[in-house]
Amino acid sequence: MADRAASGAFLAVLLAGLVLAADRPAAAPAALPDSYPTATEVRLGGDDADTRFVMDLSRKIDLHAFTLADPYRVVIDIPEVVFRLPPKVGESGRGLIKAFRFGLMMEGGSRIVIDVAKPVRVAKAFVIDAAAGDPARLVLDLVPTDRATFMRNMAAEDRLLTSSTTAPDQQSVNRSDPRPLIVLDPGHGGIDTGARAPTGQVEKDIVLDFAKRLAARLEKSGRYRVLMTRSDDTYVPLDERVRIARKANASLFVSIHADSLPRNEGDAQGATVYTLSNKASDAQAAALADTENRADVIAGVDLKTEPNDVADILIDLAQRETKTFSLQFAHDVVSDLRGTARLHKEPIKSAGFRVLRAPDVPSVLVELGYVSDRDDLKSLMSDTWRNHTADSIAKAIDSYFSTHVAATPSGGK
Ligand SMILES: [Zn+2]
Repeated sequence: MADRAASGAFLAVLLAGLVLAADRPAAAPAALPDSYPTATEVRLGGDDADTRFVMDLSRKIDLHAFTLADPYRVVIDIPEVVFRLPPKVGESGRGLIKAFRFGLMMEGGSRIVIDVAKPVRVAKAFVIDAAAGDPARLVLDLVPTDRATFMRNMAAEDRLLTSSTTAPDQQSVNRSDPRPLIVLDPGHGGIDTGARAPTGQVEKDIVLDFAKRLAARLEKSGRYRVLMTRSDDTYVPLDERVRIARKANASLFVSIHADSLPRNEGDAQGATVYTLSNKASDAQAAALADTENRADVIAGVDLKTEPNDVADILIDLAQRETKTFSLQFAHDVVSDLRGTARLHKEPIKSAGFRVLRAPDVPSVLVELGYVSDRDDLKSLMSDTWRNHTADSIAKAIDSYFSTHVAATPSGGK
């Protein structure tokens, strides 16, 4: 009965959606190859007893749906899709669905992550072909269940989390080249947008552009090889970023961020350089590390599959040398940034950032500024500021290699 009422309500939403879709131009200008399927509309229907998620697609695709706990989520993995959806879609929910996100998860694969209000069961998940002028549609029906059943179903699911295991070895690394390898790590990406400014700019775009400018400067100097953990709008899991640096034998790992912090968390303004520590230097640093470490949750990566204990042991055993080098580089960055960027009143801090956990690669996380602060945002969006600040960090990398590691075999030349 509830089922019938739900489908009635759902039909009304569906019809409204179709009317809207009919008003739309047949084909939007293609910035991307037409070969990708396009998602044009999402509708939610039903209620707490049975919630339906529908996405209109330009053609039929395969899907793989699975659930994750703590917080409860439903993840749908699909081939790479161009999302041409209205702004703010997914920010509010209906029935069992609280909100949803979508984006590129890796090259060739997109992901939809649905936050659900309570344990659910995926009653149906399918894609129907386009027919009689209707677009193809991805349909997902969710019904409530109890936690025990949810956990049991989750364990039984064939979770092909390829995203967290396939390594995007984007650039090949030339091991015979003696120059130090710098790994630049633009934070977030794809489905994980990072912080969002009140005016709409997102952290993932700001830091990618900045990292590209820095990479260009370092490469131009001829002194370094540069590897980026991502060079486009793709999500890369945190442990994967660490793995890329370790596998490539990196001399230095620089993660770039531009986060936001709630107002009551102190003066969230000015650049800050973070190093790894089991004990956060203050509450603000701890809060930020918590936010950053949640990136994998946002992207629907199951943290349970990652060897946390191993990582913890590695930290404890981490060579003092790595820590010392990280801290020395942090000081270099701060001293070179002093001329160009406004610095946080305590510009060097530490906290348990997962992305800084390589035991053998000196690693820092640079917060360029906070998008939640109006003055910081103004700087962050300025071409001149980005160029000057990239110059300063490049200079800090020069100082680091010439003063601290000149004596080591892989150090500056
Ligand atoms: Zn961030």
